[in-house]
Amino acid sequence: MNIATWLYQTALVRPDAPAIRLGNDLYATYGDFARSAAHIGAFLCDTHGIGHGDRVAIFTRNAPEYLELLYGVLWIGATVVPVNHKLHPKEAAWIIANAEARVVFTESGTLFTGGTGLPPDVRELSIGSVPRDQLTAPINSPAGVSDDDTAWLFYTSGTTGRPKGVMITHRNLRVMAMTYPLDVDQIFPTDHPLYAAPMSHGAGLYNFHYVRIGACHVIPPSQGFDPAEIASLAKSLENITFFAAPTMIKRLIAHAQTVDYNGDGIRTIIYGGGPMYLADIDHALDVFGPRFAQIYGQGECPMTITAMNRDLVADTTHPDATQRRASVGLAQACVEIRIADEDLKDLPTGEVGEVLVCGDTVMAGYWRNPQATSATLVDGWLRTGDLGRLDSDGFLTLTDRSKDVIISGGTNIYPREVEEALLTHPDVYEIAVIGAPHADWGEEVVAFVVVRVGTSPSPETLTDWCKAQIASFKKPSRYIFVPDLPKNSYGKILKTQLRAQLGEQS
Ligand code: AMP
Repeated sequence: MNIATWLYQTALVRPDAPAIRLGNDLYATYGDFARSAAHIGAFLCDTHGIGHGDRVAIFTRNAPEYLELLYGVLWIGATVVPVNHKLHPKEAAWIIANAEARVVFTESGTLFTGGTGLPPDVRELSIGSVPRDQLTAPINSPAGVSDDDTAWLFYTSGTTGRPKGVMITHRNLRVMAMTYPLDVDQIFPTDHPLYAAPMSHGAGLYNFHYVRIGACHVIPPSQGFDPAEIASLAKSLENITFFAAPTMIKRLIAHAQTVDYNGDGIRTIIYGGGPMYLADIDHALDVFGPRFAQIYGQGECPMTITAMNRDLVADTTHPDATQRRASVGLAQACVEIRIADEDLKDLPTGEVGEVLVCGDTVMAGYWRNPQATSATLVDGWLRTGDLGRLDSDGFLTLTDRSKDVIISGGTNIYPREVEEALLTHPDVYEIAVIGAPHADWGEEVVAFVVVRVGTSPSPETLTDWCKAQIASFKKPSRYIFVPDLPKNSYGKILKTQLRAQLGEQS
């Protein structure tokens, strides 16, 4: 079944319901939205010969047109390739060429003019180039597709090499969307899903269940993440819900405290995509109350490995409430998870190993990359590359990416544990712990620290703080104080850059 069918059906039943807002202003009803999508599909087909399985890329900031284009491409059974708008045009051109996309939508329609490596046969079109004012004809239903057809070609962030195209099928998307109200958060037609993070990633993937239920999507006029704007939209529209990286929540809470905002109008913020430290979520709960849910996923199993709903995140009564809040929650209903050693054999409860996942949301494979696919999908299980442990109730705690583990004197040190300990120090604002090559120990523990304004803790103070909480061998042997940490456009801390920085210094 074509996932775009959900838009078609919602538009038939609730054509006048508000579907898309740009800030407070109504941009489209569900009738308009479906007609635009059908029209874009017909235009791509008639004018550019796009058909079933052909790729169409979108390389723009968040915009109301984004949703119309996404559904327009899906409507005719083609595959959409959303490209992170913060990439350099040359990086985007590499992805567009790798995906062999035939058309790319950009804001201006001329971004790639003049030698940015876009293959000559790719047509660049402006997102405004599809006329919307002729949209009066009755609409045809979306093209039939197989559940296993690729709907969305999702390019990984590629922090360790060239990005890979993850083939996300119509089934993957449907099951992902149907699992959300079971495990992540309830959904209502009165909701206002807001796009504060790039729609090419998790935020965009989260549109489908809201289209199905007929909620109204909100694009912030800043087209990005602006804490003051979110607070203002939440107050005027109410029932705002959005996906945010943990670093975005930190910024939102910091802003809220300066203007005495308590989160009114925000129903739920779903956090994920990177580690949320206990000290940070506890602080966020203090300021905003129980408005947070967590998910753990990756492009290869979009948004659906584990989840922790609002009640679990805010619970203080269970004897394990604190450990649970530091975890990423329980396996979502659509997947099974297990923890395995290097030979992929199951490990006992409580032991740290690689997180493996199997289920209907696991990708079909990497686009035209059988080698990477067979290294990652083994006997039906997805190797996530993340390390973690399960407790006896099924809560998964992530320790680190396997490549981030520090091995010092033959002992494994999980940076996340050191980071959690240091972040509880009142002078520490942000932290990243990595391993650096060391002649005697193999690796030593190095902490990059961003301190709170007006403070200057000494390395000795931080070492004492660490030793009071975790084993002495885990404490950093070096502290590097920095004004900020390098992050990618999704707000993830780039430890590869910190390692490179250390390499240059030594
Ligand atoms: P991506 O495919 O770019 O979305 O990155 C996925 C990776 O982000 C995962 O494999 C994890 O390493 C990390 N990640 C995602 N969600 C969480 C979470 N809730 N807590 C900690 N790390 C996470």
